[in-house]
Amino acid sequence: MENEFEERLLSARTLRDDDTEVSLRPKTFDGYIGQEKVKENLKIFIEAAKQRGESLDHVLLYGPPGLGKTTLSNIIATEMGVSIRVTSGPALEKTGDLVALLTNLQDGDILFIDEIHRLSRTVEEVLYPAMEDFEFDIILGKGPSARSIRFNLPRFTLIGATTRSGQLATPFRDRFGVLFRLELYTPKELAIIVTNSAKILNIEITPEGAYEIASRSRGTPRIANRLLRRIRDFAQILGDGVINEELARESLDRMEIDHLGLDSVDRRLLTAIIKSFNGGPVGLETLAALVGEESITIEDVYEPFLLQLGFINRTPRGRCVTPAAYTHLGYTPPQNCDCPTETSLF
Ligand code: ADP
Repeated sequence: MENEFEERLLSARTLRDDDTEVSLRPKTFDGYIGQEKVKENLKIFIEAAKQRGESLDHVLLYGPPGLGKTTLSNIIATEMGVSIRVTSGPALEKTGDLVALLTNLQDGDILFIDEIHRLSRTVEEVLYPAMEDFEFDIILGKGPSARSIRFNLPRFTLIGATTRSGQLATPFRDRFGVLFRLELYTPKELAIIVTNSAKILNIEITPEGAYEIASRSRGTPRIANRLLRRIRDFAQILGDGVINEELARESLDRMEIDHLGLDSVDRRLLTAIIKSFNGGPVGLETLAALVGEESITIEDVYEPFLLQLGFINRTPRGRCVTPAAYTHLGYTPPQNCDCPTETSLF
């Protein structure tokens, strides 16, 4: 059993029961809800590349997990009319793994590397000339007798996905012609996604039911779809199979997901900062130890939503809890709180 954080219902990462995710993936720009600016620009870049008969420039997509980076990459491939090969940073252990993938591509094909910030340095260095000049060198032998052989590659498009663009070395980032940041979705957008998914999964849902799920899904389609599947179980056993507002609300309450989408882990995290650190600031490492999670998971999975809600702030001295979070959790904010509530929900 993985720890509570990995398995929790509100995790934005893929969980074991997310198999239906593939069937819920929209295949066209029309089915891809939200991210309007990204879509608009991408459509132009795709059209222009197609008119010139060229491959698309390399694309870097960044944003928290579950926001649709893989889905968007597949749509780009469909729109370009090319094949896509999917891999991830940790899966490409040796340069040979990458070379094997690259040499099997055709002109225009897409190579999608998820978690691209986790590529090893040596593999990353093979990618540099491959991205820039569509070639790579292999060094044969060692010492003075070593010689390098140059290979040409098809003109492929690399799409890299990462949770934060700052995790990439600058020379690497600079090799991407197009950088897009995916934003958390509004409840309205998520309600459309939930309604569309319900149609595919043959689930009866009212618009109010869809909105109730959407507003508690922390801005993330993957979570919205997962909650929909869980609530279907409640509807089947406790109700008449239809997900209406009341049933959605009751099911979400049973799963201890509050009306803003916080679960028990979020609440524990915030409460810990309030109680043990007087509201902060507290360093990321200390916070990670406090809740028994890696600091990168705190940054990628928990923080984006808590920041968006305006419940925590990042300061140079660490994270602090805002008065809005105190109030939400039922505590009285301190008189002279130096951690103001800056952002508001959506
Ligand atoms: P990421 O690669 O960013 O972790 P995915 O592309 O795997 O996220 O998306 C997770 C799931 O969320 C997909 O299976 C898809 O069903 C849904 N999804 C993501 N973005 C959208 C969107 N814009 N419109 C509709 N569904 C989406």
